[in-house]
Amino acid sequence: MIHKVITKKEFKKFVNSLIDGNQTFGPKQVDKRTDGSGVYQFKEVNSFDEMDLDYTVTYSSVKNFFLPFREELSRFDFSDKGWKQSVEYRVNPRVIIGVRPCDINALSILDKILIGGAYPSPYYMARRTNTFLVGMDHEPLDDCFCESLGHDTVHRGFNLFCTDIGDRYYLTISSSKAFGFLKNFKVTDPANGDSAKFHARRKHLRESFKAKVEVTGLPSVLDIEFKSPVWKKWGDKCLNCGSCAMVCPTCYCYGIEETVDVSLKSSRKERVEYSCNLVDFAEVAGGHNFRPLKEDRLKYRFYHHYRGFAQNADDPICVGCNRCGRACLAGINPKDVISDLQMED
Ligand code: SF4
Ligand code: SF4
Repeated sequence: MIHKVITKKEFKKFVNSLIDGNQTFGPKQVDKRTDGSGVYQFKEVNSFDEMDLDYTVTYSSVKNFFLPFREELSRFDFSDKGWKQSVEYRVNPRVIIGVRPCDINALSILDKILIGGAYPSPYYMARRTNTFLVGMDHEPLDDCFCESLGHDTVHRGFNLFCTDIGDRYYLTISSSKAFGFLKNFKVTDPANGDSAKFHARRKHLRESFKAKVEVTGLPSVLDIEFKSPVWKKWGDKCLNCGSCAMVCPTCYCYGIEETVDVSLKSSRKERVEYSCNLVDFAEVAGGHNFRPLKEDRLKYRFYHHYRGFAQNADDPICVGCNRCGRACLAGINPKDVISDLQMED
């Protein structure tokens, strides 16, 4: 890692040059809530001024730039002589600006599973390696609990990370590409006092978290509480809508759909994001459903996130963004469910 400092004015020039040369996405206000607060999403931008880098949170995470809700995996063309399969996973280089630490950490978790796992995904890998990520710190929201899980800071998974130290950004450069891009701009080595400002900013942000979740020994608590009535209490409220998984930056379960053209001359295979809370998630051919009860489906989502299966055994994949809690119309959120489990005798 290399650290540099850049004025906000020069940073704007730097970002505009990235935008000029690349398809670029950044946080934009797309709507307003009744209380006047903004609704933000990552959208394509054509200039620095279109972005709102002080955004609170985006409803969906940047995960969907890497794992779209629906993507074509392959296409088949049939003829009298046989069939031909085509697979396309190349993407043009692109830039995403203003990504928060928890969302970058979520991508690092997905990297472990979708690049480092037993079955690497070339589709995910192509998007990940062709995306230049610029991260930014931010003041936590009242319900963010990423600090409890150690995801309020970030050490990998980005190209460039900006920490706000007043009229300048303290830059953490973690790729040669970022170093190369910055060469044409006025950046300086941290001077006396800059590193102290960086640490003070980090300390301030860490101390600003209001929501705390006790995660020490959580895998063991989950092992012990497998049959707890807490699962029924929360499961009874669940509407099986799947919104929690759609907005979650680390949920990656999916289904495969095959569609054959009515002419029978072609077909396509698509990956579609899915949720383990949906009624038919564990239904198999013949109609048997291995998880017919909503309490079981909710429980398995929590086990996947905090207890771990297969590639992430014992390793929580939740980064504490609380997007699921905000999206849930039934009022189900990790903080309350976990604290209920911890209160069990
Ligand atoms: S808080 Fe919810 S949405 Fe965020 S990472 Fe954890 S499980 Fe996913
Ligand atoms: S968002 Fe809430 S109601 Fe919908 S599936 Fe998730 S936990 Fe259930």
